Amino acid sequence: MTTVTKEQVPLLIGGEWVHPTTEAVHDVFNPSTGEVIALTPMCGPKEVDAAVAAAAKALIDWRRVPALKRADVMHKFRQLLETHFEELSQVLTRENGKTLDEARGDLRRGLEVVDFACGAAQLLKGETVPQVANEIDGVTMREPIGVCAGITPFNFPAMVPMWMFPLAIACGNCFILKPSEKVPLTALRLGELLMEAGLPAGVFSIIHGGREVVDALCTHPGIASISFVGSSHVAEHVYALGCQHGKRVQAAGGAKNVMVVMPDAEMDSTLRAAMGASFGCSGQRCMAGSMLMGIAEAGDEIQSRLTKAIDALKVGDTLSNPQAQMGPVIDRAARDRITDLIGVGVDEGATLVRDGRNLADKPGFYVGPTLFDQVQPQMRIANEEIFGPVLSMLRPRNLDEATEWANLSAYGNGAVIFTSSGAAARKFAHEIQCGMVGVNVGIPAPTALFAFSGWNRSFFGDLHVQGQEGILFYTRQKLVLSRWDADYQRNQGW
Ligand code: NAD
Repeated sequence: MTTVTKEQVPLLIGGEWVHPTTEAVHDVFNPSTGEVIALTPMCGPKEVDAAVAAAAKALIDWRRVPALKRADVMHKFRQLLETHFEELSQVLTRENGKTLDEARGDLRRGLEVVDFACGAAQLLKGETVPQVANEIDGVTMREPIGVCAGITPFNFPAMVPMWMFPLAIACGNCFILKPSEKVPLTALRLGELLMEAGLPAGVFSIIHGGREVVDALCTHPGIASISFVGSSHVAEHVYALGCQHGKRVQAAGGAKNVMVVMPDAEMDSTLRAAMGASFGCSGQRCMAGSMLMGIAEAGDEIQSRLTKAIDALKVGDTLSNPQAQMGPVIDRAARDRITDLIGVGVDEGATLVRDGRNLADKPGFYVGPTLFDQVQPQMRIANEEIFGPVLSMLRPRNLDEATEWANLSAYGNGAVIFTSSGAAARKFAHEIQCGMVGVNVGIPAPTALFAFSGWNRSFFGDLHVQGQEGILFYTRQKLVLSRWDADYQRNQGW
């Protein structure tokens, strides 16, 4: 394993682990304790130039490697991920703060994309029309697009990078990953395992930093595409800058997801799903359920059950305390932003049923599970992404009003309905304005087989990450029209 000093996390360029000369660094915390565990070097255009040059060199051969041979590397990488599964989960928990079970889930979802990438060759097949005109055959083929870059958020240090690079690499591209400066250690370990799997030098690179390095990636003429996942305002910036510089861009942003509970919902499973969706990963999920709309008597029923479940939820250090069911948030700034927003909700007149601000004096960055009721659709806490363990309850009169309120959102990732009625579920699925809908499913996040299809301010671009859209994003189509004149053969007398 590469040694990570507290001074600096290395970059991976041209198959070598290198330390940049930059003095600017970002503290990497164990959020459970608040201790600094590593430093991320904040790079700039110089390191981007070096990574792009190494990737462009590697691309010359990698794009020519037969698709099934490229898949061989993915098979080996997959095996290594299984072998190191527990160790990777520990690395992930240590830098992100989520529980070990949540870290395992993070890794497993990423691993499923590697599975998908192992079969990518099948999806690279083109189309053929024989005799499209006299003695002319038409054939399409999908070719790699070149050097691709991925910029990822802190909340899924394994899964989100793996939404991108396994597909890009299996399609014959080279890939430069810029992980979140808050969680560089999981990415480092993934890079080590890719090299161990036999990936040629330069096909996968890692560089670190924040805005400066992101802007350098978005403007670099040697980069063909940008895949971004993070908050909406940065997604919008990356989309605009990347497009302005002629790149293909897919940029997934933030969210504000609604859960509707109908009076005919099965309450035990609804409660489990709503607790998981709202407080899993301390609410730091782009598919987190952050607003719950209980219809008629379902409102009081679910509120009373949620309150009891919140009181029983154990919050704590996710590495040293195996009892902990919910961990900290990522850093001090996140904790302060979330606790400030709880204050905003109180000032706006919402009813604070459970207040998570009482953990501020613990070492580490904790916010307890928080529940608001009587939230109104125009309040800030009903519109802003809080990205923490805060659930807001609203009380619409009926399903029509719930759908109307949910559709006011600027975002469009997910929405969920809990019901025993097929008619209610169907109406909701057809009328809700977002890209991923759950029916009695708390988090309708797609598996590797489907695209992660956010709408509105939850996604900027055309082709989403994952699934077949991911393959289309990382390849471009070429049409070959061939004429072979039959008279030629006749004239030769063969
Ligand atoms: P973020 O936007 O702060 O950071 C994401 C990436 O952008 C990081 O690599 C960061 O270094 C970089 N970055 C940050 N500020 C930048 C700037 N001003 N200019 C250029 N680059 C910048 O997001 P985060 O806090 O790491 O992650 C949480 C956000 O990600 C939430 O909004 C969440 O909803 C979203 N998210 C979305 C999805 C999805 O699929 N839609 C998935 C996971 C997370």
